Amino acid sequence: MRKFPKILQILLKDNVISDNQVWAPTLVSEKLLGLVHTEDYLSKFINGKTDEKEQKRTGFLWSQGIVQRCRYEVGGTLLAAELALNRGLACSTAGGTHHAFPSYGSGFCLLNDLAVAARSLIAGSGKKKVLIVDLDVHQGDGTAYIFKNEPNVFTFSAHSGKNFPLRKENSDLDISIEDGVEDKEYHSIVQTHIPWLLDTFRPDLVLYDAGVDPHWDDELGRLRLTDQGLYHRDLYVIKMAIGRGIPIATVIGGGYSRDIDKLALRHSIVHRAATKVWNEYGL
Ligand SMILES: [Zn+2]
Repeated sequence: MRKFPKILQILLKDNVISDNQVWAPTLVSEKLLGLVHTEDYLSKFINGKTDEKEQKRTGFLWSQGIVQRCRYEVGGTLLAAELALNRGLACSTAGGTHHAFPSYGSGFCLLNDLAVAARSLIAGSGKKKVLIVDLDVHQGDGTAYIFKNEPNVFTFSAHSGKNFPLRKENSDLDISIEDGVEDKEYHSIVQTHIPWLLDTFRPDLVLYDAGVDPHWDDELGRLRLTDQGLYHRDLYVIKMAIGRGIPIATVIGGGYSRDIDKLALRHSIVHRAATKVWNEYGL
């Protein structure tokens, strides 16, 4: 939890962004959450009625604070999606809660921000198609499940095959990566798939989960990417979209370390890559 405010502090301190580039989200409404989550689950989660077993599965004890935080987090992904549609590119300093299912939370994810943003975009803006690029080291199982019968949302997940969740869902495209893969091999996987996905699916928006848990030093990852490897990955994905005139919104996804300063810095890699593209393309 402590990593979230630190990411923004680092971005401002290192002049990756300036104050006037920072937008604050609003609390997402229950109505928008209802585009993805069941009424029963929302009422239980929002009012603190989930039982001990359900809370254990999420990794969080229920509190009023966690409800607020999660609702702002979904609001942040929605805001990033809207800004990206208007300006080409926008990045949240949170988001990527891809293990949340319609009727329950799981793996540190209580509300599925990517799914709510994709559904709300399709429902509200006349935009038709969303590509979810999920490069967090864990499979985006909740998102895959939610959109399994929805042709307007394409889910792509490249993840460590042996990692959580044990039982995988079917994304539209799943790439299972072996333990210990390093920058070069990982990058070739990303390069193999991103261009054809963009060219054949032609999304109106890309939602990019730039989880940093494929990093070699991550406590829950099983891959061996370096800081440079993550930077090149993020730069590549963002450039591929922007170069084709396709708006892209990024979320930070997972990242696990006891050293919060180091972790927050690692999460800021995607924003650094985005700033480079922003300047390069004169957005
Ligand atoms: Zn993860």
